[in-house]
Amino acid sequence: MRTHYCGELRANHVGETVTLSGWVDRRRDHGGVIFLDLRDRSGVVQIVSDPERTPDSYPLADRLRSEYVVQISGRVTHRPEESLNPKLPTGEVEIYADRIELLNGVNKQMPFQVAAAEAESVREDLRLKYRYLDLRRDRMTRNLQLRHAVVKGIRRYLEDEQNFIEIETPILTRSTPEGARDYLVPSRVNPSEWYALPQSPQIFKQLLMVSGFDRYYQIARCFRDEDLRADRQPEFTQLDMEMSFMSQEDILQLNEGLVCHIFKTIKGIDLPRPFPRMTYGEAMARYGSDKPDTRFGLELADVSDVVKDSGFKVFSGAIAKGGIVKILPIPGGDKLISNVRIKPGGDLFKEASEAGAKGLAYIRVREEGQLDTIGAIKDNLSPAQKEEIVKRSGAQPGHLLLFAADAADVVNKTLDRLRLAIGKELGLIEESKINLLWVTDFPMFEWNAEEKRLEALHHPFTAPHPEDIEDLKTARACAYDLVYNGIEIGGGSLRIYQREIQERVFDAIGLSTEEAYSKFGFLLEAFEYGTPPHGGIAYGLDRMVMLLAGEDSIRDVIAFPKTQQARCLLTDAPAGVDKKQLKELQVASTYKPKS
Ligand code: ASP
Repeated sequence: MRTHYCGELRANHVGETVTLSGWVDRRRDHGGVIFLDLRDRSGVVQIVSDPERTPDSYPLADRLRSEYVVQISGRVTHRPEESLNPKLPTGEVEIYADRIELLNGVNKQMPFQVAAAEAESVREDLRLKYRYLDLRRDRMTRNLQLRHAVVKGIRRYLEDEQNFIEIETPILTRSTPEGARDYLVPSRVNPSEWYALPQSPQIFKQLLMVSGFDRYYQIARCFRDEDLRADRQPEFTQLDMEMSFMSQEDILQLNEGLVCHIFKTIKGIDLPRPFPRMTYGEAMARYGSDKPDTRFGLELADVSDVVKDSGFKVFSGAIAKGGIVKILPIPGGDKLISNVRIKPGGDLFKEASEAGAKGLAYIRVREEGQLDTIGAIKDNLSPAQKEEIVKRSGAQPGHLLLFAADAADVVNKTLDRLRLAIGKELGLIEESKINLLWVTDFPMFEWNAEEKRLEALHHPFTAPHPEDIEDLKTARACAYDLVYNGIEIGGGSLRIYQREIQERVFDAIGLSTEEAYSKFGFLLEAFEYGTPPHGGIAYGLDRMVMLLAGEDSIRDVIAFPKTQQARCLLTDAPAGVDKKQLKELQVASTYKPKS
């Protein structure tokens, strides 16, 4: 049915007779000469038909409409000078259609025009409902092909260069330990019992290490029933990996090789190695974030010790309650950022209060280098304190210093948000830069204030840092994230493989040995039979492809995504089921629609 793909044809094909199959992208009638853009997944090429040069095809060409499916045979010719199209890869040639066969027409009104230009502004719900048409669009076709190329690059590197094997793990399984809500599936043959869909292949990949597979990977579907704020999907894809007999250093090195390979094959870019590293502690101190965007400066300064005894109650009070005071110094900010924006009602104030801050104190550094303090700050900082503030923050004439004083997490979150917003506003972020960064040494646990207990920050199989083994509660973990321009693209850890340490970790998060065994007993038992030291990592594939494609939403790199309400508009899932099905499953709903 075809000798070539449309998008392949170039000047060096001139003179050949080719057969193409695809869709009519657009049809134009230029005074009796019909021009068709013929499209397949590779792109478009221009077809010409007129009564004189292609009498056999002309009557049909005249009747064709957008999205008809046709097969066309004809001669590749040079386009005349005036109709060369340098924007199109096939823009030097056109094809005189000696023969056209109509394979299928369009029987309904198209919900939107596929041809790229018209389609850009189509509403997303319409695009998702008719996703099969949306995917005909050039941009979407390219995104899915890019996704395929990324996966192919991953497979080539891991399989051919690093000796990994891909192993599938179950979808119908037990709850896995990633800490989100599970999707549940009732078992018909075991009434009242439920499978959980995997939040990740975590447990199975560790079991594969016990089995001796040594280097495992999987392009794995994961399911998490979370509230779909921001850009999340209830099911998403991970590149999931696990390795035995490798140190953390070995794992990071291998992964740098992988990421470099992907950037090289997809973008033709040689990333510099080694990737920079930063501990979690340093990242929080300097940027207030565990995924800092290091493409620009605006680093934070901690002045808690300087102002703890100051008469300025906002500062000293916050510190007395165990909080901290940090500064975001903004060069040139004195002129660029007005008081109105920092005070209640202003956009920066709003940004801060969304992060939990009650307000922002500030100091302006005038051109002469004088600190221009206002209100309570003015009278309550000593000259020595002011001097130290200038020193710590690197303040120069023209700087604006924004202060946050609160619990550490609120301060960091606030200044992180402001830093990103202001960095963007002031054009400090060089968009073409690619900064990869390993963040290491995460804490083992974080405090869950609601449940009043420690919680594993990563998951409860993460190994504690060997130096911190004595006091697990404050221990660092052998855990690492890979951050790309301020976005976390992957994360993993070394795992616990010794029973005694595992039990101490369960103990620290308030999981009794009994509970732990009822949840993960099979894993803990497996660990008794000779477990190698092992560790791994998982990347969010959708996000990685989104970034490589330059898209803003992961929905644009997933063939059939769901909406923010976790619905598939194409199939209209989720949907009700037959009473009979529920009966077989012995499941009844307690749901009462609101009247
Ligand atoms: N299972 C972890 C996650 O989904 C990744 C890992 O530790 O390998 O985040």
